[in-house]
Amino acid sequence: MSLEKVSERQLRFWFNRLNRLAFGRKLRVDYLEFGHSDDWVAMTNKNLAKGTFSIRISNRIRFSRSLVITSLVHEMVHVDDWKLPHGRKFGERIIKAYKKAKLEQYL
Ligand SMILES: [Zn+2]
Repeated sequence: MSLEKVSERQLRFWFNRLNRLAFGRKLRVDYLEFGHSDDWVAMTNKNLAKGTFSIRISNRIRFSRSLVITSLVHEMVHVDDWKLPHGRKFGERIIKAYKKAKLEQYL
């Protein structure tokens, strides 16, 4: 675990890598950023008019690459399949994405 803060640039790098290798470049995210939070670790909002998404990751987990990547992959599965509920299938999609993007070292 690194105590250095994950940068916005690293976050964008992992998003692009995952989008390319695990989601066929099809995810459309307008905003991807770290933000202040009191009660969430990561969240995704859908812009209903445009059909696009925004992903925010809490500053509170920014010290950990694996927590940031775990949260990012989780939110990207939401973007990929907005109606898929949390559960076994959701978990399988996360593992598959990690493997396709060759990010298993962060599991
Ligand atoms: Zn979720």
